[in-house]
Amino acid sequence: MSMRVFTTCRGLENAYTYKKPYNFSFSTQAEGAMKSKSRKETRHPETSTPKFQAEKVLETVSDGIVAFDAEMNYIYVNPRGGEMLGRIPEDLIGRNYWAEYPEAKGTPFAEAYVRAFKTQQPIIFEDHFIPWDRWFENRIYPSEDGLTILFTEITEKKRAEQALNEAQARLTLAVRSANVGLWDWDLLTNKVYYSPEWKSQLGYADHEITNDFSEWESRVHPDDLEHAKATVSRYIQRPYPDFQNEFRMRHKDSSYRWILAQASIHMDENGRPIRMIGSHIDITQRKLAEEQIQAERDFSRNALNSLPGVFYMYDEDRKFLRWNQNFEKVTGYSPEEIFHMSPLDFFAGDEKNLLAERIQEVFSVGVSQVEADFISKDGGHTPYFFTGHSIHANGRKCLVGVGVDISERKQAEHALRESEKKFRSMFEAANVGKSLTSISGEISINRAFANMLGYTRDELQKKNWQELTPIKDIEPTQTILASLMSGRETAARFNKRYIHKNGSHIWADVSVVLQRDEQGQPLHFITTIIDITERKQATEALQRNAQVLRLFVQHSPAAIAMLDHEMKYIVASHRYLVDYDLGEQDLTGHSHYEVFPEIPEDWREVHRRCLAGVVEKSEEDPFPRKDGKIDWIRWEIHPWYEREGEIGGIILFSEVITQRKLAEEEIRKLNAELEQRVLERTAQLQTANKELESFSYSISHDLRAPLRAINGFAAIIARRHRTNLNEEGQHYVDNIVQASDRMGLLIDDLLTYSRLGRSRVRREKISLSALLDQITREMKGRLDEVGGTVHIDQDLPTAMGDGTLLNQVFGNLLENAMKYTKAGIPPEIHVTYQTNGDHIVVRVSDNGIGIPAEYQEKIFNVFQRLHSDEEYPGTGIGLATVRKAVELLGGRVWVESTVGEGSTFFIELRME
Ligand code: ADP
Repeated sequence: MSMRVFTTCRGLENAYTYKKPYNFSFSTQAEGAMKSKSRKETRHPETSTPKFQAEKVLETVSDGIVAFDAEMNYIYVNPRGGEMLGRIPEDLIGRNYWAEYPEAKGTPFAEAYVRAFKTQQPIIFEDHFIPWDRWFENRIYPSEDGLTILFTEITEKKRAEQALNEAQARLTLAVRSANVGLWDWDLLTNKVYYSPEWKSQLGYADHEITNDFSEWESRVHPDDLEHAKATVSRYIQRPYPDFQNEFRMRHKDSSYRWILAQASIHMDENGRPIRMIGSHIDITQRKLAEEQIQAERDFSRNALNSLPGVFYMYDEDRKFLRWNQNFEKVTGYSPEEIFHMSPLDFFAGDEKNLLAERIQEVFSVGVSQVEADFISKDGGHTPYFFTGHSIHANGRKCLVGVGVDISERKQAEHALRESEKKFRSMFEAANVGKSLTSISGEISINRAFANMLGYTRDELQKKNWQELTPIKDIEPTQTILASLMSGRETAARFNKRYIHKNGSHIWADVSVVLQRDEQGQPLHFITTIIDITERKQATEALQRNAQVLRLFVQHSPAAIAMLDHEMKYIVASHRYLVDYDLGEQDLTGHSHYEVFPEIPEDWREVHRRCLAGVVEKSEEDPFPRKDGKIDWIRWEIHPWYEREGEIGGIILFSEVITQRKLAEEEIRKLNAELEQRVLERTAQLQTANKELESFSYSISHDLRAPLRAINGFAAIIARRHRTNLNEEGQHYVDNIVQASDRMGLLIDDLLTYSRLGRSRVRREKISLSALLDQITREMKGRLDEVGGTVHIDQDLPTAMGDGTLLNQVFGNLLENAMKYTKAGIPPEIHVTYQTNGDHIVVRVSDNGIGIPAEYQEKIFNVFQRLHSDEEYPGTGIGLATVRKAVELLGGRVWVESTVGEGSTFFIELRME
């Protein structure tokens, strides 16, 4: 039997050869058939021989080496082998494997030994030796004599491997279960390895995606692609900090998934990036969650901001944590300011303490509320209602709450209180009757109602309404109250009668309101009772009046029509119907313009003005009628008023004056004719007057000569032949002389009078002062005789006139003043004046006998005298001369006088 050649360890194969000096023998039987031999028997005689060099080598190798004979008795064990088997080699030599390690039976190792021996083929294998829980690598080299086994314990390695595998498996599992897709991008070739997870994330099977960069690029959301690529290229240029890229990728089902890519970069020895390895994590859920969180956040922020009131949240240190925009708006503080403020800073006075208490309550009891004035930065106070709830947030106890502006409610409450107060005082103080009757029948009434019915309040309160209502009115009232109770009506107003304590009936205007509670249940009747007895009587009177008015209008002898504000007839008089040929018809309700379509626009305009309150009239107005004839109308239109003072329409008074108009026309014509005739007659009269004047002039002139003869001769007789005459003759002669004297005076005066105006009237400046001075000087002797005085105003002005005429005027007036004195009373004459524009009025006043009023005009006529010649001598031509002279000068003369007191003559002259 030749020694087998074997290697002592790997890598040293063929380096050392070793010939085993022993023959190995193996039983051809199964392992069970292998017989163990006694130690002695198996011990090889050569073992005690000095060792070979090669044997030494075997003893130092790291592999275990054993050799068995064909019976599986140990014939060689190297020290390393013994170590691994836990035995001293020498002890094993000669012993049988099956006996030493019965536990090996049935193990792959035992099977391999048997098989190798049988097949004479070396077997190299490694396996787990379960009985020892150790791993061995065996190289079994069979020979006819037995087996040589080189073995190494690989338990450590195997364990490490197993651990690695497990780790790998775990990692794979982890990667798979974490759904991490991996990619490995060769920057030089642009080829990318995409892991199955990478692909399955996007819904693809492994084979559906090639190793191309474009597979990624083409699936990134167009909106994200630019940013994603930029992030990648930035990272390639500057591979720090960590690569993080978020983008959306299109899934096979066309939806987009949010992907988080993380990666690291690999460089070559020159620091050139050659590879980028990374992962994909589908963060769609996270994104959705984030979005949802953001949406939730937005929602709660918006919800808080859209709260109508203020929202706040603060912790136990009274530090504000959150508040809404409204809080800033209402308080006027900036977020920065609020952050540093305490909730109590928004309150003042006693309310600060109240708030402090309530806040404390929230933190201790969990909830509270309070009404207080919320004070803004600008000092404004607004009543608010605040709530507070304690909650736990971020591990802290906090107060959250809202506040709402209750100004309106406060105002409403205030208004309600006020209105209640008002209602109460109105109820009490109203001078109309009021009663409040609850559904259960309790009545309260005010004094006015009691007074109205003549009862005291207490008396009336005990009565029910039926007792106070005449039988006739009970049922109608009941019907109304029933309709209120049924809810058909909420309020009612009606007239009814009440029975006064004295038995008389009082007419009342009754308003009843049924008040209900919030559920609509009837609470009480509020009744207002107004005594309208007088009004009722007045209305009746008014109705009577209206009737009277209608009758009055209808039967009025004038044409009257009363129209309403729409110009429709209310009533028209018979005379109206007759005047306008309207027959017997009843115009009531007909429009004025329907009746008279020909009414011109300017009249319609008049109607409109009158309807607006103007009174208009016309003394005569032509009215072109339909039939072409023109009627003349005298009309007057008044608006008429309703009781409330509103214009109800117009009243038209009219008179058809066509006849009168025609008559007037006739009169006008006649007048014109008359005037013409008067003019003619005046001219004739003037001529006659002139003739008369020249006649009287010539008469007086011609009479003077014979008169002078009569007077002259009579005087001679009276003087020279007196003695020849008896007493009677003497008397007659004296009378002739006297009469002819008087005749002479008369003729002189007449002559003076008729001469006036015959010569041209001069217009020159005459100093009245000088004129009057001269006249008085001439009269002085006679004045002194009777003890009379003349007072003339200083500075009498200059007047325009004729000196002769003015002399006549003032001469006559002063003469008369001196003449017509009261017996025994010396004349006192005053000449005064007054200027009036360009006129002067000179007054000559005396203290004489005066002139009766009825003669004050007459005395200016010729021969008008009020006295006999014996009383006051005169011709009666003086004042006529005065008037003629004044009129020739363009002036006026008149007298004012009181009998027994004196007279004043006024001469008005032009000054310049
Ligand atoms: P006689 O020559 O009568 O004075 P007059 O024409 O001067 O005529 O006056 C007419 C009449 O007017 C007088 O008769 C006299 O009755 C009355 N009369 C004139 N002047 C006065 C006067 N100053 N006072 C009273 N009566 C006067």
